Amino acid sequence: MALSFDKAEIRSALSLDNIFDILTEWGGEPEYTDFGILSSTICHNLPGEGSHKLYYYENSGLFRCYTGCQESFDIFELTMKVADIQSGKHYDLNDAVRFIAFKFGIIIHSEEEIEQPDFEDWKILNSYDRIQKVELKKNEITLQDYDPTILSRLNYTLKIAPWLREGMTQAMLDCAMIGYYLGGDQITIPHFDKDGRFVGLRGRTMCKEEAERFGKYRPIVINKQLYNHPLGMNLYGLNWSKENIKIMKKAIVFESEKSVLLYGSYFGLENNISVACCGSNLSVYQVQLLLDAGAEEIIIAFDRQFQELGDKEFKHLTANLTKIHNKYKNFATISFIFDKGMLTGYKSSPIDHGPDIFLQLFKERIYL
Ligand SMILES: [Zn+2]
Repeated sequence: MALSFDKAEIRSALSLDNIFDILTEWGGEPEYTDFGILSSTICHNLPGEGSHKLYYYENSGLFRCYTGCQESFDIFELTMKVADIQSGKHYDLNDAVRFIAFKFGIIIHSEEEIEQPDFEDWKILNSYDRIQKVELKKNEITLQDYDPTILSRLNYTLKIAPWLREGMTQAMLDCAMIGYYLGGDQITIPHFDKDGRFVGLRGRTMCKEEAERFGKYRPIVINKQLYNHPLGMNLYGLNWSKENIKIMKKAIVFESEKSVLLYGSYFGLENNISVACCGSNLSVYQVQLLLDAGAEEIIIAFDRQFQELGDKEFKHLTANLTKIHNKYKNFATISFIFDKGMLTGYKSSPIDHGPDIFLQLFKERIYL
């Protein structure tokens, strides 16, 4: 049967948030910017391997990759590229258009009846390969877990000293099973879901050139097994903090795992209400996890990603935070730890300069 999807019609029906959400699902770790969205280059890399050089321009509705790809392309071409890279499957333009239309429930005015796409075949695109099952009724997603025996083969005595010097306690590092992978010269950070299932293994590289090429954090590959997971579908640390979040009705969201480990080190696991979203955006699903845990206030504690009040990065950051606020304010109180007094360093997490400064910033947090 011939398909008569109107490509342009579907494209114009997509919101910026739709694009953002699908980039998140595909592991692009997107960020909102003043021109649209900045994502890692999942157009020609696996998730976690590319730099943040894939630009999406809201005004044109086109992507532009500044490293591996030539020319601009739209969401359908990106769908085909991601299908190829992440599942090794070939999708033609019709497949891609149908996928996007059904994914976002865009109703097409068409004379002909439209075939229901075979979602089983598109599983990887639909929900990324690590998602085991999606229960629409409860809106619950279960990530596939990995065999945790790999964790017993990592080194737990070597080279974690830099993190101890930054203020983490050995007890916290032991609890989080922070180790070292010699083969990759990486500190290893196992990710667990809210029930403590092992769903991913991320590495913090200790090699400067690697960090510049690929970013400081990336999923670990051991024996050709890539231990990745869609970061936007989990919250690092929720397995430790969920009971306290239920009692306190508050949750603190940091960008990185290290901040959760510092929080636990300073205030004790019994007082820990922190999680990391592993990036600078908070997905709908992550908010859902916090609401399910009983959070009534979600305290965003992102890094000080600006040099001066009012500079370009400051504008990006405040725009991103405002966006988060507007997106979720009807579900919970959204507040912000925001270092306008410049007590911490450039690019620091609010917890990086010790418990006293953190508590001061926490008390002075902002309600929009
Ligand atoms: Zn590319």
